[in-house]
This record gives sequence, C-alpha cells and structure tokens, in this order.
Amino acid sequence: MAGIYIHIPFCRKACHYCNFHFSTQLDLLEDMVKAIGYELRERASFLHGDTVETVYLGGGTPSVLSAATIEALLDETSQNYDLSQTAEITLEGNPDDLSREYLDTIRQAGVNRLSIGVQSFSEEALQWMNRSHTAAQSEAVIDDALQAGFCDISMDLIYGLPEHLAGHWEKDLEQALAYNLPHYSCYALTVEPRTVLSHQIAALGQPAPLDQRQQSDFAYLMEQMSLHDYEHYEISNFARRRDNGRSHRSRHNSAYWTGRSYLGIGPGAHSYDGASRYWNISNNPLYIKNIRHPEVIISQEILTDSDRYNEYVMTALRHIDGISMHHVSTHHTAYVNHFLQEINTIPTEWISSTAQGYKLTSTGRLFADGAASQLFYVDEDS
Ligand code: SF4
Repeated sequence: MAGIYIHIPFCRKACHYCNFHFSTQLDLLEDMVKAIGYELRERASFLHGDTVETVYLGGGTPSVLSAATIEALLDETSQNYDLSQTAEITLEGNPDDLSREYLDTIRQAGVNRLSIGVQSFSEEALQWMNRSHTAAQSEAVIDDALQAGFCDISMDLIYGLPEHLAGHWEKDLEQALAYNLPHYSCYALTVEPRTVLSHQIAALGQPAPLDQRQQSDFAYLMEQMSLHDYEHYEISNFARRRDNGRSHRSRHNSAYWTGRSYLGIGPGAHSYDGASRYWNISNNPLYIKNIRHPEVIISQEILTDSDRYNEYVMTALRHIDGISMHHVSTHHTAYVNHFLQEINTIPTEWISSTAQGYKLTSTGRLFADGAASQLFYVDEDS
C-alpha cells in the first residue's frame, strides 16, 4: 500500500509565519499544472504497482486550483496508478476559496476528505498572521462542507501566539469544538528562519511567542480534547472515533508516521521508498523548465541505518502507539543497547512503559522533541 502527495505551490497571500514552499505569483499556475500532470505520469513506476490508499493534495494552497483542475489531476492519478476504490483523497483548502459550488464539484470528482486552514476565529489574530480569509468565511465554509456531504473534515488551528494575542486560544478552541468535527490538527506557532515573522521579531523588536505560553496552550488543548472525547493519536492531531469503532485519523499522515512508501509530486515534494528519501526542487520556474529532466529536479539521499533508527524514534514517540521494542530489536538491532541506555535518562514523568514498549505521558508530550533527541544516535563521523 502506498500514498501520493501532490504539492500545489501557490498561495493567495504569504502568511507571515510560513516557510513552506509556495509562491504568490499565480501566473505560472497553468504551466505548473501541466508539469505536475507530466510528473504524475512519468513517475508511476516509483510505486511498483502498489495499491494507492491515499492521495493528498497539499501545499501551498491546493484550493487555488479550479475544481475542474482538481478533477483532471485525480483522473490522471487514477489512470496511472492502482488507486483503491476506498482511497482517502484529501484536499487542503483555505476558507476564502471553498464556495458551496466548488465543494460540490470536488466531492463529485472524488475528494472525500477536507483539511481546512482556519487557524483562528479571531480577526485580530488572522490579520496579524496575514491570512487570506476572515473568521466569517471560516464559519460559512464549515457549514457548506457539511451540507455538501463531507463526512471527513479536519480543521487546522494555531496556538501559542505572542502574549497580546494569546487570550484568543481558549475562545478559538471553544468555537472550533462546537462544530464537533471528526478531526483537528493543532500546531504551535514556530518562528522559522527567513519568514516575515522572524524579521518582525529580530529586526523590528515585535513580541515573540513564549515557550511558557505554548506549553500552557498545549496543556489546555489536551485537556479540552480529552473532555470532548477525541483521540490524541499524534502530537498535533486529534480524531473522533467513527460509529463503527474505527477512527477518523488521517490515513495519509498515518502512513508517513509508520514508515510506508509515498510518492511526492510537484516542487518541494518529498518521496520515500523505504531506503532513500527524495525531494523535488523548491523552485517553481526551474521545476517547470526541467520537468523532462528528473536528474535536475529530483535529489536523493540514501538513508543510513542511524537515519532510519532516528526517524523511527522521532515519529513513533509522537504517535499514540509509542515505540515498539519488537520493532527496535527487529529493524534497528544495532541500536538496541543505545536505546535501552538512553531511555533510562528521560525523566520518568515524561515516559511510561506499555505492553509493547514506551510512550510519552501527557507531560512528556510537552517535551516530545527533547525526549526524541535524547534517544537519537549520532554517528561519530557525522
Ligand atoms: S496558506 Fe498555508 S502554505 Fe500558504 S502561506 Fe499560508 S500557511 Fe503557508
């Protein structure tokens, strides 16, 4: 089983905190769609005929594409890959793009999961982030998506804003949870290099997010999600259980976290085949210009044993299932002693033992990155 990620590298506005690959120059959109279609056809052999269980249109902002273009890309996918009848097909979209008519058309085209970039219901916070939409548009789009028949809807939210905006988090979460959606993804605001936000903080002296505020917002998030009976299945992700007992977890992202193969199409997209990581050039004009020359647009890194061990520790620790000792001793034999030595150095209130191995406690989830780096193996020659 495999997944396909299609990166649409355009946005209507540049959010001040964002360091993803995107451009606001939409004049290349038509040529980009042609190039992405070409890459979809040409790289079909990457998945060796495996059944594709998930397709994820991410970005950037895939909803800048017309509904007809989304349909054409999905047609291209089903013609060139063994797309499962029950595939999860997700589209990331921003509230200002998702009209009722648009939602109806993409649903008919096969999109069965929406990931909506709401981020906040506070106009003040949205303007500070330089988002392209208003809170009223977010409210309208959720109603429209439900009426259009989407059962799998995920809302993205951001917490841990600087102090003058931090008071919005409790209200944001209350309003978000009132929709009783099947899935929420909640991320701490991070200050990434070379973003407008980092410039505002470093050069203009504007207030930065505080670690302490981010921890208290995250603790409040975990408490509220638990009260509302959501499964905290990954550090930033919360899912409702379905009536049949299954979960509304994102199947696509779960595949990343469990080490399955995936193919990334479009500029800046990453792929993984179990042995190597590949990434496409993060430059729209060069991607389009060189689309017939994969040696120019695709880079490859063969993962070392320690890379694979570190990646497993990082993703498994963030996941509800935690680290499996069986997995470590079967797939990362050389690191078992290192792991057992280091796990004992992590504070006991951060980690608990399970029948299979170890997982983070609620307190430990506040320090997930620190706990993972404690377990990493660093090659002496690296
Ligand atoms: S819409 Fe998403 S990808 Fe685009 S700039 Fe904002 S956060 Fe980044």
